[in-house]
Amino acid sequence: RPNMPALDSYWMPFTANRQFKQAPRLLASASGMYYADMDGRCVLDGTAGLWCVNAGHGRREIASAVERQLMTLDYAPSFQMGHPIAFEFAERLAAIAPGPEGQKLDRVFFTGSGSESVDTALKIAVAYQRAIGQGTRTRLIGRERGYHGVGFGGISVGGLVNNRRVFPTLPGTDHLRHTHDIARNAFTKDGLPKHGAELADDLERLVALHGTETIAAVIVEPVAGSTGVLLPPEGYLQRLREIATRHGILLIFDEVITGFGRLGSPFATDHFGVVPDLVTTAKGLTNGVIPMGAVFAGRHVHDALMHGPENAIELFHGYTYSGHPAACAAGLATLDIYESEGLLTRAGDLAAHWAKAMHALADAPHVVDVRTIGLVAGIELQPRDGAPGTRAYDVFTECLARGLLIRVTGDIIALSPPLIVEAGQIDEMAATLADVIDATA
Ligand code: PMP
Repeated sequence: RPNMPALDSYWMPFTANRQFKQAPRLLASASGMYYADMDGRCVLDGTAGLWCVNAGHGRREIASAVERQLMTLDYAPSFQMGHPIAFEFAERLAAIAPGPEGQKLDRVFFTGSGSESVDTALKIAVAYQRAIGQGTRTRLIGRERGYHGVGFGGISVGGLVNNRRVFPTLPGTDHLRHTHDIARNAFTKDGLPKHGAELADDLERLVALHGTETIAAVIVEPVAGSTGVLLPPEGYLQRLREIATRHGILLIFDEVITGFGRLGSPFATDHFGVVPDLVTTAKGLTNGVIPMGAVFAGRHVHDALMHGPENAIELFHGYTYSGHPAACAAGLATLDIYESEGLLTRAGDLAAHWAKAMHALADAPHVVDVRTIGLVAGIELQPRDGAPGTRAYDVFTECLARGLLIRVTGDIIALSPPLIVEAGQIDEMAATLADVIDATA
């Protein structure tokens, strides 16, 4: 069988790297921390698939639970109808929901993906404002270099300028200034404020520009993942919360990546001790193996929508696959694994080892910055003159040849292994990366 289909053999744009005219590379099977390619070669998974396979690959418990569910009740609509496993899963999620006791965002809305979770949260925010008599608040604020999926809601609040240039976006969206320079500690030269809290004051600028009474919500990733692992500067999220509260703006954390243990706490909300009004999740919710997302809402939001005078008619929303029985079964089995193996906090136990291994790469050729948090790392390379992205792409290609899967975005290498990773495998990833960055310098 062909290992490398031709670049144009079928239409599936993201399997190929079109920029570098590379055909898709095929993965044939997976188990634990490893993929196998078509030749049976082992590839260490440095990315948990796509930031999602937190409990590792090929988990028998999940597969069995899905099979059992499919043979019991394979599908049931969630419009006017229900089924017990969706309620059971929501209840289990409520117990570990983001936020401290007494403030937990323990009302759950099921979706089919991260992009759907983002759309759902944005719609809930606008509907909430309307339900409390703030119907003029429809504006949605995102952040430069934010990534919130590929729905029209997500690209409108997202920070990828190309998306917004090509596609029509929701009217009334705007963006906070990005935090990348701050994250790299290279922030003074272009006049950006030095302290994270001051950067968050940018929300005040948008409030003054647009008027408080127009803004429904602000959405940010607590740690931006897909655009290069950008950590929030000290005080940033706290100040955003303060400003949003002062102006009656809902705060949404997009935890599609950071949810379910990636940072060493169940959610980034817990890690940073900042409580938003809504949290979007997907990926690790079902260990990435059955598509599903969930939006967590605070009780004030839930109650205003469900018990308010204008209630559900204002928020007609839901998907064919909301609370899909097979996905709920996968999710419940995933939670069982997370809890029995302590995976929701394991990234915290390994964080120091991880940080040490990754920061050792800071002296490798062309490395300009290394950022880590929990079990995530961003390793930023100096772009080649006139050929941005090529240096990291060479590293990606050579790592794969040596049996390590990494992810690159521009010239930033992103790592986020399954949370079952062992210390020895972390060392192996760092050693391979060091060799490859040297060899491709
Ligand atoms: N939000 C964030 C923060 C993400 O990282 C992603 C996916 N990488 C999404 C939303 C979109 O999720 P999906 O691809 O499941 O639609």
